[in-house]
Amino acid sequence: MSAANTNKYCIELSSDSLNLQTVHMAKGFIAISIFTGDDASAEVIQALYEIGVRYIATRAAGFDNIDIDKANELGIKVANVPEYSPHAIAEFAVGMMINLSRKITMADKQVHQNNFTLDNLVGFNLHNKKVGIIGTGRIGSITAKILHGFGCRIFAYDVKHDAGLELKYGVTYTDLQTLCSTVDIITIHTPLNEKTKYLVNNDLIKSMKKGVMIINTARGPIVNTKHIITNLQTGQIGFYGMDVYEKEKGIFFYDLTNKDIKDETLKELLAMPNVLVTPHQSFASAEALKNIADTTMDNFNCWDKDETCKNELPHRLNEVKEMN
Ligand code: NAD
Repeated sequence: MSAANTNKYCIELSSDSLNLQTVHMAKGFIAISIFTGDDASAEVIQALYEIGVRYIATRAAGFDNIDIDKANELGIKVANVPEYSPHAIAEFAVGMMINLSRKITMADKQVHQNNFTLDNLVGFNLHNKKVGIIGTGRIGSITAKILHGFGCRIFAYDVKHDAGLELKYGVTYTDLQTLCSTVDIITIHTPLNEKTKYLVNNDLIKSMKKGVMIINTARGPIVNTKHIITNLQTGQIGFYGMDVYEKEKGIFFYDLTNKDIKDETLKELLAMPNVLVTPHQSFASAEALKNIADTTMDNFNCWDKDETCKNELPHRLNEVKEMN
């Protein structure tokens, strides 16, 4: 952020996350920048307004943690970074698939204990596998391009169809149930909204092929984690790759070495060898971080010059609501 700022604004950095208890720290600032773990719910936005904050720039693409309606009502402007590097997340999602299908993390753990056998390490190819992409926007469409290179057969579910993906990568759009009953691997790339909350639940999982692999690099609450665990235990789900977790707030992004994690659900997931957990890191490439900082500063610059900020959220949020 400091490099992108080039000394233009006076920036104060804090490692505390935004919530009702920390909101007072924004006193004296007209603008703040937040991230996915921050709480910008209606009451926090009200408190921010009362101490003079008028601009919020989130350094993320997703904005499910921000009550945009409340911000609009109070005249607080909100902008995000819609496209900082969809490649970072798409590459990571495919990386998770390969890691799980070829048991790379398991192999690494084994060899560190001087066990160099292959008995537990036989995996499967991605070539010729059927992969279902839920959400073929910026990230999902790049995931399709990468998987096409691997020789996968790609199925997709989205509220709108991308004809280019059908043409270039042979993507077959279908309804969600058909996708689930057809594919070997499912990767999620929708935003979290009222339609996608707990989209992946017992009922949907029941319609999937036994032993399916599910990858979630989108948002934790799109899957019902308890249902995921039950189905991992029965073998209905064979592999689960999660870069996001519905209760990640206060855990992901923190160094809790030698501290007890009180979240029993997360502990159960961490103990399963066919579950790969990463701490919301799929965006964290050098390229993405630079783009995030530059775009966030561009958002502030537009507001500073009273120019239209193309990343301001109300307009695009309305588009999403209409589309659904
Ligand atoms: P995008 O807006 O370009 O694409 C989202 C796609 O989902 C769109 O094609 C849209 O039509 C579709 N969609 C929306 N609601 C739907 C529904 N109810 N059913 C089916 N499809 C629906 O967004 P993107 O840039 O591809 O990002 C997708 C999500 O990935 C973000 O919203 C964010 O939550 C998440 N993300 C995670 C990370 C990370 O670090 N883990 C980083 C960036 C983004």
